[in-house]
Amino acid sequence: MFITVEGGEGAGKTSAIRLMEQLLQQAGYEVVVTREPGGIPIAEQIREVILDSRNTEMDGRTEALLYAAARRQHLVQKVIPALEKGHAVLCDRFIDSSLAYQGFAREIGMDEVFEINRFAIHDTMPDLTLFLDVSPEVGLERIRANSGREVNRLDMESLAFHERVRSGYLLLLDKYPERIVRIDASRSEAEVTGSLSAVLIERLKL
Ligand code: C5P
Ligand code: MG
Repeated sequence: MFITVEGGEGAGKTSAIRLMEQLLQQAGYEVVVTREPGGIPIAEQIREVILDSRNTEMDGRTEALLYAAARRQHLVQKVIPALEKGHAVLCDRFIDSSLAYQGFAREIGMDEVFEINRFAIHDTMPDLTLFLDVSPEVGLERIRANSGREVNRLDMESLAFHERVRSGYLLLLDKYPERIVRIDASRSEAEVTGSLSAVLIERLKL
């Protein structure tokens, strides 16, 4: 089972994944937790290039191709082997991030970004995607309060950019209502936890 977690900055993906890992383990799954871009050495190296704050000249399409390259290597080397063993794979970001950030927010076009991703992933799509939805104001404020977080090139983007990322995710929610479930992540951690548990119980019959 392949589950992905999506959302803008400060949505709480990391905490959500920690909780879901516990729930899946309690249900008897062997769980592989991983992230994009990254999760394996080659993809972590690509991540460094993409997110390096010195790389201000990075072209949007170059960025999209690098994400797709990191995605492919991660999929082939880590995700697919784990799925073949029957494990549950929990991934922090996947194709929807590329569609929302590069496709919509950077205005490359969701269809075009989908094309290069189809080349990268063939037909390995998530069984379930949790979209943690929070307004950029709230999300960015959470990040400012968390001083331990790494600084990256995206921190230079405007509030309008992050608003577009959110709009992109909302379009995807409309387009893939079977696969993507929206969780209102502006609420307290306890409330978000309750919703996440309910979704896993209902969708995965845990
Ligand atoms: O989720 P995480 O914080 O690890 O993402 C790292 C950075 O990469 C974030 O600032 C995120 O906004 C950015 N990103 C992006 N396009 C993607 C995926 C992530 O700009 N397709
Ligand atoms: Mg995180």
